[in-house]
This record gives sequence, structure tokens and C-alpha cells, in this order.
Amino acid sequence: MRPLKALINQTALRYNLATVKQLAPKSKIMAVVKANGYGHGLINVAHGLSESDGFAVLSLNEAIDLREHGFEQDLLLLEGAFEAYEASIAAKMHFNLVVHSLYQLQIIEKLKLDHPIDIHFKINTGMNRLGFNPIEAKEILKTLQSKSYIKSITLMTHFATADEAKGIDWQFNTFNDVAKHFNFSRSVANSASIINYKSTHLDWVRPGIMLYGASPIEGQASGLFNLKPAMQLKSKIIAIQNISKEDSVGYGEVFKAKNDMRIAIVACGYADGYPRHAPSGTPVYVEGKKTVTVGRVSMDMLYIDITNIPKAAIASEVELWGEHVLVDEVAEKSGTVGYELLCAISASKRIPIEIVYG
Ligand SMILES: *Cc1c(COP(=O)(O)O)cnc(C)c1O
Repeated sequence: MRPLKALINQTALRYNLATVKQLAPKSKIMAVVKANGYGHGLINVAHGLSESDGFAVLSLNEAIDLREHGFEQDLLLLEGAFEAYEASIAAKMHFNLVVHSLYQLQIIEKLKLDHPIDIHFKINTGMNRLGFNPIEAKEILKTLQSKSYIKSITLMTHFATADEAKGIDWQFNTFNDVAKHFNFSRSVANSASIINYKSTHLDWVRPGIMLYGASPIEGQASGLFNLKPAMQLKSKIIAIQNISKEDSVGYGEVFKAKNDMRIAIVACGYADGYPRHAPSGTPVYVEGKKTVTVGRVSMDMLYIDITNIPKAAIASEVELWGEHVLVDEVAEKSGTVGYELLCAISASKRIPIEIVYG
């Protein structure tokens, strides 16, 4: 069998959840597990994060899957209902629905639900993705307070720059200008905001990336925030080539050896979710040492320099990311973020996942 696999560390997931609890001790935690648990496998991460107060997912099927696996927490559909039948099932199954647009309110109103529904009412405070504009929001909320088909309302918004110098005040002030008129619970903080802004912790926090042990803030390693990588992507060396000075490696001859080199071929490529944009010099870890990729990443394979790692041999294990090489280091080299790389693993549907502890 091809040696590539992703190990999902339940202990690290628990550890990261405990870190969130320490940071936001008074808030309930809505663990964001969309995109198949950021690539780690929805049910795997739900087990690791079973102490959280809720799970946020994208689709109805994911919420049903969690319920069927015995998770009794609040389950939130992050984009709400796309179609009417979803709202009616969500109400029956006691899922919480985001409501971000008028058409979603109209769907709910028309259904004449016999199970009143819990909604997270989303306000667009500047990200301009989902949500009601603040003035409209205030008016609609006044009318919603008395509706019998609504059991509870949580006010919610999402920050665009919690990880950047611009910060959150420009959005948070707008949010508070609406929220102060109501006595609803409130949910605004993503991972970056949980780390950077205590004032945003409120009734709920919504951590995503930090639970998986990757950094929400570019240029700052996850370890600085007391987080441990939950995924180790590893494979093995399947071939070795001894090349001479001036020889090239891989497609396009983009890498040319400056000296004689020992090159290892590793079973992992861009069809698995490893970024094709990773340039020569992207870190990997083999036989207790950090080294680098060389040449262009192929569909199913990539090349690494083992010239100075004599112990490296056929079947040596290679960590592509995990504890020794952070996913964020690979992402930074490749011009993307850890989020994308983690999600790509499960999107590829080629990588067996194993659960580990410790
Ligand atoms: C994905 C998402 C989060 C989590 O964001 P992270 O940056 O991964 O912590 C929180 N809230 C909403 C609405 C999201 O879509």
C-alpha cells in the first residue's frame, strides 16, 4: 500500500481546546468543524473536541452525521438553510440556523414550524460576505422578538482583519451599536480574535484553525499560542537518485544541482493536496533532520534533498507537515495559509486517516 497517511492526534485536539478554554474561560465554545473538520475528518475531530459546547458545520448532512454519532451539543449550520426543506429538518432536529439574509427569514416564516427554531442572526459589519446591514438588522430584530417560530436569537458577526494590524474595532463597534439594543446572546470571535481580543469573547467563541494547532496569525508560529499540531502528514521514501553537479530534478528542469547530491523521491504529490506551488526549499523532516524539497512537486511524488542525511534510505519516514515541520511553514513557502493545505488533504480523498493519541 502507498505509504502516505495523515495521523490525527486526539490528544492535541483536546489540548488545543483546553487552550481556548483558558483564553476564554467564561464563553461557551462553538468548535468550527466545517470542511470535514478542516481536513482532519469530521467525526475524528468531534471525538477529540467532545468537551466543546457546540459544533459549527456547513451542511445539514454534517450536522445529521454528528447527531447520529451521538454528539448532543448545539449544532450550528454556518450558512443557514439554502433551501426550505433544510430549515424544516433543522428545526425538527433542533439544529441552530444562521440567518444571514431576508430570503432565509421568509423561508422560515412560510414553513409554519411546529418546532420553534434557534437562530444565529448574522450582521454584516464590514466583511461584506454574509449578513444583514446594521440598520436593517436593528429593524428586523425588533420584529423577530415576538415571533412564535423563533425560540432564541444569538447575534453574530465575523471579522475580516482580526489577524492584522487593522484589528477589529471598526467592525466590533458597529456590531455593538446594534447589539446594545437587545438582550440576545452574542458570538463574534474566530481564532485570531480569541487570541488577540479578550473583549470579543462574549457568550460564545467560534475557534476553528487554532483547534487544529495551526496559527491564525501569519508569521507567528502556533506554538507561541500554546497550540499543538493535530495532523501529521507523513509518507516514505520510495526511491533514491544519486545525481551529479549540473543534473536537474523533475519536470521543467527547474532545479539544477550545484554539487553532487542524493535525492529521495517521496510518495506525496499535488493530487494528494500537497501544494504544487511549494518551491525548492520547502521544509520536510526525515530521519530526525529537517531538509528541503527540490524541483517541482509532481502529481503523486515530490523530491527531497538527503545529501546530508546518510541514514535516509528506502522506506525512511518523511514528515511533510506535523510536529517538526509546521503546516504554516509549508504554507508560507507556497504563498498560502495552513487552512488551505489542511482542507486540501481531505478534498483529495486519497489519504487514509489514522487516529493516534499522544
Ligand atoms: C470558519 C469560521 C470560523 C472559524 O475561523 P478560524 O479563523 O478558523 O478560527 C468562525 N466563524 C465563522 C462564521 C466561520 O465561517
